[in-house]
Amino acid sequence: MNDAIVDRFVSFLDASPTPHHAVATVASHLGARGFEAVRVADPPRQLPAGFRGYVRDEGSIFAFVVGNKPVVDAGFRVIAAHTDSPNLRVKPQPLQRSHGYVRLGVEVYGGVQVATWVDRDLGMAGVVHVKAGDSITSHLVDVRRPVARVPTLAIHLNRTVNSEGLKLNNQTQLPAVFALCDDDDGDPLRALLAAEVGCAPDDVTTWDLSLFDLATPTVGGANGEFVFSARLDNLGSCHAALEALTTAIDDGPVDHTTVVAMFDHEEIGSRTQRGAAGRALEHVMRTIMTNAVPQGPGTLSRALAHSFVISADMAHAVHPGFSDKSDAEHAPRMGAGPAIKLNVNQRYTSEGSTSAMFAMLCEEAEVPVQWFTTRADMACGSTVGPLLAAGLGVRAVDVGNPMLSMHSVREQCGSQDHGWMAAAMRRFLVRPKLG
Ligand SMILES: [Zn+2]
Repeated sequence: MNDAIVDRFVSFLDASPTPHHAVATVASHLGARGFEAVRVADPPRQLPAGFRGYVRDEGSIFAFVVGNKPVVDAGFRVIAAHTDSPNLRVKPQPLQRSHGYVRLGVEVYGGVQVATWVDRDLGMAGVVHVKAGDSITSHLVDVRRPVARVPTLAIHLNRTVNSEGLKLNNQTQLPAVFALCDDDDGDPLRALLAAEVGCAPDDVTTWDLSLFDLATPTVGGANGEFVFSARLDNLGSCHAALEALTTAIDDGPVDHTTVVAMFDHEEIGSRTQRGAAGRALEHVMRTIMTNAVPQGPGTLSRALAHSFVISADMAHAVHPGFSDKSDAEHAPRMGAGPAIKLNVNQRYTSEGSTSAMFAMLCEEAEVPVQWFTTRADMACGSTVGPLLAAGLGVRAVDVGNPMLSMHSVREQCGSQDHGWMAAAMRRFLVRPKLG
């Protein structure tokens, strides 16, 4: 097992409690490898072959390496993933005082497994926007101590909890206990955030804050075969793509232009300014095309006709206690390699031709590959792949590493699969020709 990459993965997970932090973590790794920050609003006039850049947009980031050949001839090779995970977001006016407690009102972001969030030591992270003279400054904050908790009701008062499961009302029972009420009636959240940022409490104007489980990501299992962490969906794919990109550049320049796109907002449908159904990636592609040297005559549509997307998002591993939820012939196991995800109704964009391409990349990288389809009598999930394929008109394949407990506050995946995914992605980025 390649332990070094798993250690880097665990550190990456720990450093990235929110999409904004994931983007900051990715940007710092890219910066260390010579990638320069580029603004779509004001790009460098020339992007020479081999130029390494990234465009950062809040919780989304787009890294690229300009190819040796005009992108209209050699196309883009894109790996796409998402930075966001379902979690609890702090409301704009969150303080609720009752029965001697101050609670934080939360909104549920994406498809949270709500019951997994109870009785956890919760930190708080995100961005705080602060008034500074006549402008607003934004500050990343990462409050890494147990400031909040959603307590369960004692079993003596909830006798059916084991037979009927824990059910919470998101409005009345999910707000997190944050403090005890005191007499001065101050604002304990603003005070805490002001201390984090180093400003006056009154200057804290707004925030984009998430609660997160303080349990540290870790390698687990009898032989270290698992990773236990929050946010594996989909920081697992983001980190594999980052590893692929930062090692592929060691092989030297290639003809095609490489793009690694990490999108925010997948868990809420992607139809946002910087989501995969928006135009952020297209704007980055147009910026590269307009400013890349060498250029050839032609349009973005010609470049996209030469392009290919690997959309990577975690896959459902077969669950030993619920194996009837899987199709027996398409039930990925942990520790057996990445899965190619197929659905004839195109909830995943993979088809025979694009799946064959990924299987070939795996074979060349000596990576085992598995196949996933949902049971024919169950509904299928989806991800950024079909949105990019449809929005850009580009060939694509959906893949992902197997995991359990998807959308729980604490998830589980296989440690060896992570290096395998990175190796298959790396092969995609360095292979001279695709098919
Ligand atoms: Zn996902």
